[in-house]
Amino acid sequence: MTVEQYDGVLVDGVWRRGGGPTVDVIDPATEQVFAQVGSGSLGDVDDAVASAGRAQREWSAVPLADRVAVVRRIGELIAERAPELARVRSRSMGAPYASSLALSNSAGLIAMYVDTIARVQFEQVRRDAYGDSLVVRRPVGVVAGIVPWNVPVRNELKKTIPSILTGCSVVLKPSPESPVAGALLMEVFRDAGLPDGVCNLVVGGADVGEALVTHPDVQKVAFTGSTATGARIAELAAPRLKRLQLELGGKSAAIVLPDADLDLVGRSLQAFGFGNTGQICASLTRVLAPRDRYDDVVAALVAAARRHVVGDPQDPATTMGPLVSSRQRDKVLGLVRGAVDQGAVIACGGSVPDDLPTGWYVEPTVLRDVTSGMTIAQEEVFGPVVVVIPYDDEDDAVRIANDSRYGLHGAVFGADDAHALDVARRIETGTAAVNSFDIPVSAPFGGVKGSGVGRENGVEGYDSFLDYHSYKLTPALAERLEAEALRA
Ligand code: NAD
Repeated sequence: MTVEQYDGVLVDGVWRRGGGPTVDVIDPATEQVFAQVGSGSLGDVDDAVASAGRAQREWSAVPLADRVAVVRRIGELIAERAPELARVRSRSMGAPYASSLALSNSAGLIAMYVDTIARVQFEQVRRDAYGDSLVVRRPVGVVAGIVPWNVPVRNELKKTIPSILTGCSVVLKPSPESPVAGALLMEVFRDAGLPDGVCNLVVGGADVGEALVTHPDVQKVAFTGSTATGARIAELAAPRLKRLQLELGGKSAAIVLPDADLDLVGRSLQAFGFGNTGQICASLTRVLAPRDRYDDVVAALVAAARRHVVGDPQDPATTMGPLVSSRQRDKVLGLVRGAVDQGAVIACGGSVPDDLPTGWYVEPTVLRDVTSGMTIAQEEVFGPVVVVIPYDDEDDAVRIANDSRYGLHGAVFGADDAHALDVARRIETGTAAVNSFDIPVSAPFGGVKGSGVGRENGVEGYDSFLDYHSYKLTPALAERLEAEALRA
């Protein structure tokens, strides 16, 4: 089978192979190399940042309506190329083609960006008891967008589209595990009319990432990835006082209240505990069950796990593909073994499926008799593993939910929505769902504690791409600017 070839560096609209080593992108279902991508050297990083700096000055002067028009066009072109994007997503990290297609067609995400940018107040005249001022919001400058492999296309869009809309420019660094979707998106951006240099690409690993983070001409780092890497980036960025947006790992709890609908719990965890083979930062991986319904909750989750069809991602019947890499599979299986050593019991799954010896598959796994102190209840697994922890009463459930260094997401299931919300408010987490598993994309998303700094999505998602600049005005000028603003 031919191995697809891609350049891994785009600078000023010109593709080059890059001065770094060639990256082999391995299809996790076949364990065969399906693409080879050039990667960048430190010199390529310098060139990309210089290109972004030049382009940013002109791009920030382009009227917002024109920037929005480019983004709308990007949305249309992504929809047209969704099958191709889904194919490379699926082959790079093993997600089933059908779900990849839905995520690659990012119409909802693009619409959210277009709607919310209209609500950003770029200029405001303030007249109050403290004096007259003009408050202006301007793009921070060059953004380094560093993303993981787990949701190609969406991860890349969440760094590039807010940059484009706010008048920043960006150097995107996709993960070496799945760099092809990022390269294809660059073609989409060009075809949509984005000027050369506004979005540059450098494929590479930690060395390229660190070169971007420490580059003196990068003003902001927009990072999604593990908590360990986020901490390393914060350390590197601190002496340089860079703006940071860190979307990190999670170990999110789903509290099942005694009167919860267990069918709903099962369906929710099927999607958001095992979905994407558990490789979602906000996956609900700790299920907290009341002691007297413990066995029923475990049974509902086992049924949810068994509804997944594990296998070839290209088969339309498949709902769960392999993990991204052999390293990830070894890590997941090791954590499951460690849990059993600490006293957990496998309710289902726990190993490699017998009928799938090739490919980095792991069975959807439910672990019971887990306590909050076990490693499996504390570490992010990033695989299809859900643990069930018993609780005594509501306070105990909240205590266990908060017994984590993470605070990304959560969920509360119960017969009374309002009461479930009260419980959700007590969980230390950036987001939580009531009788559901997800958060609308227009609400700010991000973590507390070890899950990150800053927010993406919604109107708040633009905050870290913009700086405030304030000007003291004379009363006469304030009046004139106010009148002009009203006429506009
Ligand atoms: P990772 O931290 O290993 O890598 C993420 C990105 O950072 C990659 O592009 C990688 O090449 C780069 N990188 C690695 N070391 C670096 C360094 N020292 N300096 C700069 N860049 C560096 O994470 P991963 O394994 O690719 O992804 C899985 C993690 O991402 C999980 O922890 C998951 O929870 C997290 N994640 C979080 C969110 C969120 O929104 N909070 C979303 C998706 C994934």
